[in-house]
Amino acid sequence: MPELPEVETTVRELRKKVLKRTFLDVWTDCPKIIKEPNDFKQFKSIITGKEIKSVYRKGKNIIFSLSADFSLLIHQKLTGHLLYGKWKKQGLIWKPVVAGPIASDPMNRFIHLIFLFDNKWQLALCDLRKFSKVVLAKNEEIKEEAKAIGPDPLLMTFGEFKKIIGQKNAKIKQVLMDQKLISGIGNIYSNEALFEARINPKRPASDLKEGEIKRLYHSLTKILKKSISVQGESFSDFRTLDGKKGGFDVFIKVYRKEGKKCPYCGGKIVKEEIGGRSSYFCPNCQK
Ligand SMILES: [Zn+2]
Repeated sequence: MPELPEVETTVRELRKKVLKRTFLDVWTDCPKIIKEPNDFKQFKSIITGKEIKSVYRKGKNIIFSLSADFSLLIHQKLTGHLLYGKWKKQGLIWKPVVAGPIASDPMNRFIHLIFLFDNKWQLALCDLRKFSKVVLAKNEEIKEEAKAIGPDPLLMTFGEFKKIIGQKNAKIKQVLMDQKLISGIGNIYSNEALFEARINPKRPASDLKEGEIKRLYHSLTKILKKSISVQGESFSDFRTLDGKKGGFDVFIKVYRKEGKKCPYCGGKIVKEEIGGRSSYFCPNCQK
């Protein structure tokens, strides 16, 4: 699932490509991903003619602020990613017409939603498993919905982070991934940050000492920033807006590395379910 660095990568690229563009048309073969309005015809009639004023990120959500006080929210969920390119419909399939990674990487071929802009370019949602969520609504409604999303770890001071962590009795791994408490962190970056901070993911959050919370805060922000600087991870399906893989995979130390050697102590990395999600850690280094 795209997490904070991947969504941030997409948002930064979108700002270079789609600001001031006007939607001319939209197509989908999967209306269920459009949660609001739940009638595709209505969705199409509202978005047509709207101009993109700004693009921003809230947690793992991409939000386009549009003319006439509307906003378009896209959550890419498990396997979605946005692509900016040119496609032509052949039968039931949209074929890319420009050579490059969008055309050559098979992970970019699951096109289920396409917007056409006034410059003839298109924005496509590629989603293998079709779990993405798209909402088109008035600004106030989107803002109201966004209120349930916790603060961003990159905009948080250590004091704010400590306050959130210190009050929770749940396991630290689950606290990090709870979007209502802190937004944008999923399974990859929670595992990596806890490893870097040498904290066992099963520890109750409220048990952590000030020094440990400090280590975690610094590890987390360092890893997120590093990943943004190399355009995120592409372990599975995430691709950048132009269809390329992100560069963070080589920096991953524990995620999906069970049985491999810990880069610090040489011991074995283990995999364990915590709160229903696979967790990867070194029991020797992470106490
Ligand atoms: Zn170790």
